[in-house]
Amino acid sequence: MLTELGQRLASGSLSDATLQRATESTPNLAILPWVNVVKIGGQSIMDRGRSAVMPLIDEIVANLPHHKMILGTGAGTRARHVYSLAIDLGMPVGVLTVLGTAVAWQNAQMLQYLLAKHGIAFLEPEGFPSLPHYLMERGAVICQGMPPYKLWEENPEIGRIPPQRTDTGCFLIAEVFGARKMIYAKDEDGLYTADPKKDPAARHIPRISVQELLRQDLNDLVVERAVLELMLTARNISEIQFVNGLKPGQLTAALDGEPVGTIIYNAEIRRGDVV
Ligand code: ADP
Ligand code: MG
Repeated sequence: MLTELGQRLASGSLSDATLQRATESTPNLAILPWVNVVKIGGQSIMDRGRSAVMPLIDEIVANLPHHKMILGTGAGTRARHVYSLAIDLGMPVGVLTVLGTAVAWQNAQMLQYLLAKHGIAFLEPEGFPSLPHYLMERGAVICQGMPPYKLWEENPEIGRIPPQRTDTGCFLIAEVFGARKMIYAKDEDGLYTADPKKDPAARHIPRISVQELLRQDLNDLVVERAVLELMLTARNISEIQFVNGLKPGQLTAALDGEPVGTIIYNAEIRRGDVV
């Protein structure tokens, strides 16, 4: 016997605004409410090699007994190189996304070999049904950070750089699984009023709402703009945190729930009843 909502869904138009609103009131399942998604920066961490990656690996290993983690990888400088070549050759956004995904995948491979002795597996989205099992057994898994749109990536408003890259892919994983935290480990102490590498007068912002940040329309950000837009309609993830992965202890502090780095929060989260 279908519920009243069920009957309306089965027979009505899915584009009907009242029907869409009716689905809003049903409970929201947080699938993996204890998992932390941690994005390891591409350019900001991986591209720095041993001196940046090894201490962060040690910190991740030290946290395995305490926090379950999905480790997503960024792409970085090699992706920028292939984007420049592909743009020069006239390739569309979808092709650039395929190429960038291959680079994030390379970083995921290297991270996985570094963590292999701890029994950490690398999963592609097709392998996600086994992800809860790996997390329970080993405490962490590795994913490449790009969303799986590949050729189907939408065009940005301006230009041809794929607008949804590894910050976005990691956020989407956190949101769909209803993760405990979405933490980005990069090479700065979080968000500043401007890129601190270019503007020495840039001021650190420890905490800001996504609505206020979008209103400020800063010239450059520590995160892909697409993530901020996705936060506005997120049901599960109400805040994201940015820590300096080059400073030992910052990732651990964030995993432990401390307000290190920068927290961007949604002041108007549309939470259904979480079950
Ligand atoms: P990832 O390695 O994860 O891809 P990115 O290199 O894309 O990271 O983004 C992190 C970089 O963003 C930082 O190294 C910093 O120089 C730059 N950045 C630009 N604007 C800002 C800002 N407003 N606040 C902090 N960092 C910023
Ligand atoms: Mg980036």
